[in-house]
Amino acid sequence: AIPPALAHARADFPILQRSVHGKPLVYLDNAASTQKPQVVIDAVTRYYANENANIHRGVHLLSTEATGAYETARGKIATFINAADDSEIVYTRGATESVNLVAHSFVEPKLQAGDEILISAMEHHANIVPWQLLCERVGAKLKVIPVTDDCDLDLTHFDELLNEKTKLLSLVYVSNAIGTVNDIAPLLAKAKAKGIPTLVDAAQAIQHMPIDVQQLGCDFLVASGHKIYGPTGIGILYGRRSLLDGMRPYQGGGDMIAHVAFEGSTFKEPPSRFEAGTPHIEGAIGLGAAVDYLSGIGLQAIHDYESDLIAYAVAKLQQIEGLTIVGNPRLRSGAISFTMGDAHPHDIGTVLDTEGVAIRSGHHCCEPLMKRLGVPATARASFSLYNTPADVDALAAALKKTAILFM
Ligand code: PMP
Repeated sequence: AIPPALAHARADFPILQRSVHGKPLVYLDNAASTQKPQVVIDAVTRYYANENANIHRGVHLLSTEATGAYETARGKIATFINAADDSEIVYTRGATESVNLVAHSFVEPKLQAGDEILISAMEHHANIVPWQLLCERVGAKLKVIPVTDDCDLDLTHFDELLNEKTKLLSLVYVSNAIGTVNDIAPLLAKAKAKGIPTLVDAAQAIQHMPIDVQQLGCDFLVASGHKIYGPTGIGILYGRRSLLDGMRPYQGGGDMIAHVAFEGSTFKEPPSRFEAGTPHIEGAIGLGAAVDYLSGIGLQAIHDYESDLIAYAVAKLQQIEGLTIVGNPRLRSGAISFTMGDAHPHDIGTVLDTEGVAIRSGHHCCEPLMKRLGVPATARASFSLYNTPADVDALAAALKKTAILFM
C-alpha cells in the first residue's frame, strides 16, 4: 500500500505524464538522475523570473534577494543532514567535485610517500580515481577493503587495513551499482578512535534514508543535487567546521578572498573560501526546494515505502526465467542489478526502452566492482519515491518479452 505521504507524489512530477515510443514512461533510472517535482522547477523559474542577479557583491535589491535565497537554501541543506552549522555546507558541482575538493584541500597537504588512503572495492569511480591521482602525485598507496560474493564489505582484515599509515577512510554508503547499504557507522567510529578522518559518499543514500552527519560521526559527506530531485550541476560537500577552517582553497578567484594584493592574498572563512567565482545560484535554490520537498514527505516514510517496493521488485524479478540478480547484499536500497543469460545488458536496456521502461546498462562507473563480481556489465533498475508496484509490474512484463527474444 502507498502511504498517505506518498499517495500523490507521482502527480508532483510533470515528466511522468509523458510517453516514450507510444508507451507510458516507466522511469527506473533514478540512481543516474531523478526526475524533478514541480516545486523544484518552479523555484528555478521563480529565481530567473523575479530575483535573477549575481550574489554576494551587490547592494541592489535583486542581488540581496538572490543572495538571501542562495544562503537560505544552504541552511535548509544543513538542517536536512543535521550539520552543526550552515557554514559546514559547501556548494560544489556534485559528489565528484566534492571528493576532488577534499583530495586537494584536505588530504594532499598532509599526505606523504608511503601513507595510505583506504576505500572499498564497491566504490563509484568518483571515489576511486581522485585518490588514485593523488596517490600517484605523492607516492602514497590506495588500499581497498574487499567485497564478498554477495557484495557486502568483507571486513575480515579491516582492523589491519585501517592503520597508522591511513590518512583517510572514504566509503560509499549505498552502492549505486548493486544497492548494498553499508553499515558504515561502526567503521567510522573505529577510524575516529584511531584519529583517522573519514568521508562518506552519500550520493545514493541521502535520497533514500534519513541522514544525520553528527550521529554518523563522519568528517566529510558528499552528494549530488540531481540524484535527490534537485537540479544538475549542483552538489554538496559537508565538512566538519574545525577541519574546513584548516583547509587550503580549492580554486582561486572572486568571492573566496578576504584581500588580494600582489604580495599575497588572504581568504574568506568557510564555506566561501571553497566557492570561487559566480556559483550555480539557481541550482542551489532548486536544491533547497528539493530538500523542502523531501522533508515535507519525510525520509523515514520514503525509506519504508521504497524498501517494500524493492522487496517486491526482487521477488518479481526472481521469478523471471533466465534472469540473475547480481549481488545479494544483507541490506539493499535504491538499485537492483541483473543479467539475463548471454543477452548484452545494452540490448536488454534497448528492448525495455521500446516498452517505455527506462533502465541503465553498463558498468555503472564501478569497473573494479564489476570485475570482482565477475560480470562485464549489468542491467540496473533503480527506484525512487514516485515509483509504484505498477512500475515493477511493467518492468517484469517487459523483461519477460526480452527473455523470449534473447533466451
Ligand atoms: N558516488 C556514487 C555512489 C554515485 O552513484 C555517483 C553518481 N552516479 C557519484 C558518486 C558521482 O556523482 P556525480 O556524477 O553527480 O558527481
